[in-house]
Amino acid sequence: MRLRAAAAMASFFTSVVLTLCVMFVVVECKYIVYNTSGGIVPEKLNVHLVPHSHDDVGWLKTVDQYYVGSNNSIQVACVQNVLDSLIPALLADKNRKFIYVEQAFFQRWWRQQSEAMQNTVRMLVSSGQLEFINGGMCMHDEAATHYIDMIDQTTLGHRYIKDQFNVTPRIGWQIDPFGHSAVQAYLLGAEVGFDSLFFARIDYQDRAKRLDDKKLEVIWQGSKSRGSSSQIFTGAFYTGYYEPPRGFYFEVNDDSAVVQDDISLFDYNVQERVNDFVAAALSQANVTRSNHIMFTMGTDFKYQYAQTWFRNMDKLIHYVNQDGRVNAFYSTPSVYTDAKYALDESWPLKTNDYFPYADRGNSYWTGYFTSRPAFKGYVRMMSGYYLAARQLEFFRGKNKRGTTTDSLADALALAQHHDAVTGTEKQHVADDYAKRLSIGYKESEEVVAASLGCLTQQSSSGCKSPIPNFKQCPLLNITYCPPTEVDLSLGKKLVVLVYNSLGWKKTAVVRIPVLSNNVIVKDSAGKLILSQLLPLVNASIAKRKFYASAYIGESPTISPMYWLAFTADVPPLSFSTYLISTDKPAASGLTKQKSYTMDGSQPDAIEIGSGNLKLIYSGTDGKLMRYINAKNFVNISVEQSYSYYAGDDRSEKPDFQASGAYIFRPNGTFPIQSEGKIPLTVLRGPLFDEVHQMINSWIYQITRVYKEKEHAEIEYTVGPIPIDDGIGKEIVTQIKSTIGSNKTFYTDSNGRDYLERIRDYRADWDLQVVQPIAGNYYPINHGIYIKDKNTELSVLVDRAVGGSSIADGELEVMLHRRLLYDDGKGVEEALNETICVLDKCSGLTVQGNYYFRFDPLGEGSKWRRSFGQEIYSPFLLAFTEEDDKWTNFATPTFSAMDPAYSLPNNVALITLQELENGNVLLRLAHLYEEGEDKDLSVMATVELKRVFPNKKINKIKEMSLSANQEREEMEKKRLHWKVEGSNGKQGSESRGGPVDPTKLVVELAPTEIRTFIIDFNSNLVKY
Ligand SMILES: [Zn+2]
Repeated sequence: MRLRAAAAMASFFTSVVLTLCVMFVVVECKYIVYNTSGGIVPEKLNVHLVPHSHDDVGWLKTVDQYYVGSNNSIQVACVQNVLDSLIPALLADKNRKFIYVEQAFFQRWWRQQSEAMQNTVRMLVSSGQLEFINGGMCMHDEAATHYIDMIDQTTLGHRYIKDQFNVTPRIGWQIDPFGHSAVQAYLLGAEVGFDSLFFARIDYQDRAKRLDDKKLEVIWQGSKSRGSSSQIFTGAFYTGYYEPPRGFYFEVNDDSAVVQDDISLFDYNVQERVNDFVAAALSQANVTRSNHIMFTMGTDFKYQYAQTWFRNMDKLIHYVNQDGRVNAFYSTPSVYTDAKYALDESWPLKTNDYFPYADRGNSYWTGYFTSRPAFKGYVRMMSGYYLAARQLEFFRGKNKRGTTTDSLADALALAQHHDAVTGTEKQHVADDYAKRLSIGYKESEEVVAASLGCLTQQSSSGCKSPIPNFKQCPLLNITYCPPTEVDLSLGKKLVVLVYNSLGWKKTAVVRIPVLSNNVIVKDSAGKLILSQLLPLVNASIAKRKFYASAYIGESPTISPMYWLAFTADVPPLSFSTYLISTDKPAASGLTKQKSYTMDGSQPDAIEIGSGNLKLIYSGTDGKLMRYINAKNFVNISVEQSYSYYAGDDRSEKPDFQASGAYIFRPNGTFPIQSEGKIPLTVLRGPLFDEVHQMINSWIYQITRVYKEKEHAEIEYTVGPIPIDDGIGKEIVTQIKSTIGSNKTFYTDSNGRDYLERIRDYRADWDLQVVQPIAGNYYPINHGIYIKDKNTELSVLVDRAVGGSSIADGELEVMLHRRLLYDDGKGVEEALNETICVLDKCSGLTVQGNYYFRFDPLGEGSKWRRSFGQEIYSPFLLAFTEEDDKWTNFATPTFSAMDPAYSLPNNVALITLQELENGNVLLRLAHLYEEGEDKDLSVMATVELKRVFPNKKINKIKEMSLSANQEREEMEKKRLHWKVEGSNGKQGSESRGGPVDPTKLVVELAPTEIRTFIIDFNSNLVKY
């Protein structure tokens, strides 16, 4: 073998540069200089070798375990090794290149490096050998993430890269997320200045069609409103994965054949390896437009010993180019993108998004839209809190040496990872994310308390002592709030501070648990406020005891008796304070309570609601029957119910596909009801009515109709989901109406644009329906609606969920899942969340809210947009006590904005944050799409002088969305791609004009988000 190979190769080697080296005169070795210096050859097929490592910031192990390389019995992975071994490998040959993606890992490593190493790495970055792409803290998910979180986590990574290396990432690299959103393409793509976006996972039917049509590479226009400026060159990888071609894996323990080119050793294989390489290149070239293809040389946690990869790629490049059939070289996605752009060709246009994703017929990745709903709820709650906390941090002035909101920022960034908020991580990793959020929350809670304390005692010389100690209640969802559960009989008064982080005034009901019914509420001017007391139901008391023990390690000794509810009315970016004290007899009358048992003695119809909205329940079976809004004359029949899907358990042959953390694969639908009749308890009060229903032994529901609102609020408590029958269950709620929705429904993209969905249909190919339920599920972060020629029905949610419209007139949202089998997508655990107190564990109970409302056609978006923003940014409540000696606060109310000013109804303030250098990051978002609402889809204006009445704006710079470059600079660099069959103009290009530095008025066109860095005159910063 050896001789024959040597003979065959003799002629092959004639052109190879061979150097003889002699070491100590005894050992002779052949030193080969591999020629890796090639670049693009226009007349050849160019194979761009892109070395990369996909490093999940938590999945089977926690982010820190992955970084340091511990817990290797689960997975042998150490990101520190990747970065440590990469640098010498790059230094060894200036032609070698590498892209690095996940900044959470990079920052961990960077902090530990010597100055000398940092200088070396800076040199590698500036020479282009090491390139940061994507550049967020993590590679965020695109289904269960809210756009504000996506922006925040990307900003955190991008600004760090800018700060340390003075570079701005050019490429989106979302190679692993399980489906791709429109918002990713236009907001987190085009608007952060990316020139292209690459990923792997698209539906298997879509991929087959695109392979046939050579349409894996497209120009994706994710926004209907933003036109061609929202376009981005997008490539889906041809195998559906982000790995190298088969047989070209070169980690030390991979079984691909290494390139063996030493003729003095056995198993010489240069020609075979060259042939394999050329074959792989040609097969990919067959389905790719142009003569440029990309080999993604890496996969999960590769390059732990980078030299083996580079050694083999050096040889491949050297011998393949000698062979001459194709041209191979080290590249990056930027080089690849520029090569495609230089061809000056037109590309197919893609609109809409890439959801849902199935990798084969029964494997729809639509379960993770809902997996770990409690964690998803926690992430969303923290997201809204972080937005408010940053505002308050800025109003007081960031405490650069003390506690800041930064650790919450980091924890939230990690939580956006595609194995974090998705719920597709192992349980111990989910716990790690939650722990990080909790630590981040604790620190931010201190920042908020300190800021509120200071602002309430504000005087011209700063905050006057004593500063009140404000406490907050993150466990209000389990009716646990020690600061309000206090005895007020001894003249003590409870101060409730209500902060509104929205840019417009908000009026909403606040509810807190209290011990006694002898309480009254006064505003800061001493005026009595209408309030309402509701008895605490047994179900909540039991939940409170169990969950308080589980969360804080001890069962509370006292129990509140009532919910005290009152209406708080708070101007934009302001707080109001309310005083709660005892009064005899109680001025806030107890809510009138009546139970209906469905035994035949109740009236035919039970009407709920004392304002415009009435809900009518059947006196026969206790079910919701009718929705009547006296204000807009909607009068429509409606039903609301629960069902569950039995999770398919086929974890074995022949199918290997169970329902699990990723996959939704239902095996039958089963209605949930208590023998067809659901007894009602109705609580009527001056502010709102409540309908309590025990749907079954593990679903409790409260429906609220507020006197001043025209939507129904449903608070659901689902769990523990029983599994003693050996069947995993996926719980959904349905709202059924008579709306003729004709298979069509609308769901949001990451809480922003609404996309049209048609049941059993895809715009890009002829759908073969395999899974009629799971294949029609879409991610929901904001809402879902249907309409016909008269009416719209909208449902809004408080966290990421999956949902659909499985039948005309109907909307469905999945609330909770508990499953008994792993779904074979890598996590190797069943999604069976439990909660334990000592040794007693039970299935996790989930509590949350959703909201629904009917509107006349064309009027639904006003509620969806305004109330949707209110759901994201609830009131922030803080509590302190006053005794008799203490009069009032120096400043019982506070407004950051001009009290007579408000942002327009179509604009939200999505970031107000003090940066390290004292400058302020401001983001304003127009909430409406082009044509969405007849009044509000118009250019809006914001007067910054009135937003910041007490500060002088020295300088204002408009930035890219991730605030790492000036917008103008980004626009100049942006590549403009050509679209097939188009004159280059699609949709509106409408944008707000430049901001005049003296007028300081910001214009926003529909869907536009504008990002500014403001330098305030530091002599005038005091609020
Ligand atoms: Zn991943």
